[in-house]
Amino acid sequence: MVENSGIRERILAVREKIFSSAARAGRDAAEIKLLGVTKTRTVEEMLEAVSLVDAIGENRVQEALSKKERWPSDIKIEWHLIGHLQSNKIRRALSFFDAVDSLDSVALASAVERTAAETERVVSVLIEVNTSGEGSKTGVPPGGFSELVDRIMESPHLELRGLMTIGPLTDDEAQVRGAFAHLREMAGDARRRSGLPLPVLSMGMSSDFEWAIAEGSTMVRIGTSLFGKR
Ligand SMILES: *Cc1c(COP(=O)(O)O)cnc(C)c1O
Repeated sequence: MVENSGIRERILAVREKIFSSAARAGRDAAEIKLLGVTKTRTVEEMLEAVSLVDAIGENRVQEALSKKERWPSDIKIEWHLIGHLQSNKIRRALSFFDAVDSLDSVALASAVERTAAETERVVSVLIEVNTSGEGSKTGVPPGGFSELVDRIMESPHLELRGLMTIGPLTDDEAQVRGAFAHLREMAGDARRRSGLPLPVLSMGMSSDFEWAIAEGSTMVRIGTSLFGKR
């Protein structure tokens, strides 16, 4: 290795913070996965991180596919799609992503189910909820949530694993934690509705993952704090 990029040290520092946030919340840090968000990062940067994270997350199908094509076949890691999935990219996305963490509409669920059925695969999915009410955000509005849960339950090729949200873009702790608490409550509703365990609550990014852990996150999605500024 030519020069120390600092990626390893930053990941270990984030792991420490995950551990201490979990301890403060009386939780076991082992139940919290670290998903490294690698949008805009090179394959070389990703390979430095891969043994220290539990999964990687990419926002764009095309960018992720071009990296996947250069990925060494002997290095195993789960690839999660965390950005909005356009209907014309579903087939390509399902050809290599292990999970779609950003399922956000009945129409998308139906389209993913159709493609998954054709290719005879069961796709692991999270429902992305818009808990912050900000117009520009992706995610199903809370009002459309139950219908989406029901649609996924009717879809034999979709395996619902839990929920995902992006916290509101503010440093107001009460507001951010309120959004995360809302997602946790919605997961409880969805468990009762579906009878599924729904173990995954994907919430918390570089700026707010410690609050997310306090509110029950089981998967933090972190880019900047691992790889530096984009
Ligand atoms: C970019 C991104 C992240 C990571 O954000 P950082 O602030 O860089 O940690 C997490 N989740 C989603 C959906 C993202 O698009």
